[in-house]
Amino acid sequence: MGIVRKTQSVQIVLDEFRKNSTAISAVHLVTQLSTKLNKSTIYRILDKLEDDGVLHSFMGKDGVKRYAKCQNCNKTTHTDNHPHFQCTICGKINCLQVNVSLPDIPDYSVTSYQVFIQGKCKECL
Ligand SMILES: [Zn+2]
Ligand SMILES: [Zn+2]
Ligand SMILES: [Zn+2]
Repeated sequence: MGIVRKTQSVQIVLDEFRKNSTAISAVHLVTQLSTKLNKSTIYRILDKLEDDGVLHSFMGKDGVKRYAKCQNCNKTTHTDNHPHFQCTICGKINCLQVNVSLPDIPDYSVTSYQVFIQGKCKECL
């Protein structure tokens, strides 16, 4: 493996997200970029990008952590309270740019929530 500079490695990871509009799992990235970056580098970059408000992560039904691009997030706050949609035919997971409002839950203070929807995407319908 050649020497890849830090900024360059971040760029390689970001390129994968630019190429795909769907969410990508860390495991998939590791396989995809195995010739360029090692596993720990990829995990470190993903963590950093999430901290920086560039990517957000969520769990799929399979318990696998996935990452997707953020829209209007920054270093201090993530505003990705949108649902994620997984197609049961092709398996792709997309961010849905729709608002889901949480009902008031008495006696609990909600700090984060996830909405995960499954069905068929427009290509598979
Ligand atoms: Zn975000
Ligand atoms: Zn589909
Ligand atoms: Zn999302």
